[in-house]
Amino acid sequence: MRLAPYTRHIRTLVNRLLAEGCHPLARKMCLAVRSFGSRLKCPCCGGRFWEFLPFGITPRPNALCPGCGSLERHRLLWLYLKDRTNFFTDRLRVLDVAPIRFFSEQCTRLPNIDYVSADISSSLAKLKIDITNISLPDDSFDCIICCHVLKHIPDDRKAMRELCRVLAPGGWAIIQSPIDTNRGETFEDPRVVLPEDRERLFGQSDHVRIYGRDYQDRLEEAGFTVRVDRYAQDLGSCHLRRYGLASDDDIYFCFTPGRQRRSGERVASITGVP
Ligand SMILES: [Zn+2]
Repeated sequence: MRLAPYTRHIRTLVNRLLAEGCHPLARKMCLAVRSFGSRLKCPCCGGRFWEFLPFGITPRPNALCPGCGSLERHRLLWLYLKDRTNFFTDRLRVLDVAPIRFFSEQCTRLPNIDYVSADISSSLAKLKIDITNISLPDDSFDCIICCHVLKHIPDDRKAMRELCRVLAPGGWAIIQSPIDTNRGETFEDPRVVLPEDRERLFGQSDHVRIYGRDYQDRLEEAGFTVRVDRYAQDLGSCHLRRYGLASDDDIYFCFTPGRQRRSGERVASITGVP
């Protein structure tokens, strides 16, 4: 029997079942059906799909992996960690701020990683911390992952300084935030406190700003040296399509080369860092 004439209807049905939620067995069957003849691949869970699911307040298409829940930014980060860092090879103390489940589970399994997840409230986090006042000693980590957190933090400059403080000399951090590249300066107003006003002005009820092109400056003022890595563009359109990535999502790779290393201290290496 030729399936081609029915493919669109099967896809619609499967997508609807996955989006609306269904019995775990039915979900597994749906995922198996989706992977048949698929053109996309999630680098995080290895799943293959016709397309990723829509996601967002204004749903954007092809965003959420139905297998592991990763979004575009998570898939990009995972590929970047594999391609351009020592994350999977060197012995590293890792701080993951505001963990998400798949990343947390994967890191916990990596034998080279001393993994600590932290959040002010999430039940997924091992440590309950306020990143504007991290109750840990200086130089506690070789690697910090902090993605899409600072947009929620009223005193983000203090949070950046704290992240810099707990990053060991020679370590590195990936600190991602959505950037509106049409803005030179970050837009924020501490007088805006009502959720409905924040949603109207900042795009979401729990956001407190929209970062502009000065995002890198803020990170550098906090003590980091920042390399903006246009890794997504380097991947090329074929891989962007295959992994469901956004081409304009740059990686903010932060490190502290100016800080003095103590004698004999372990140093994290990173491909391509000057
Ligand atoms: Zn996935």
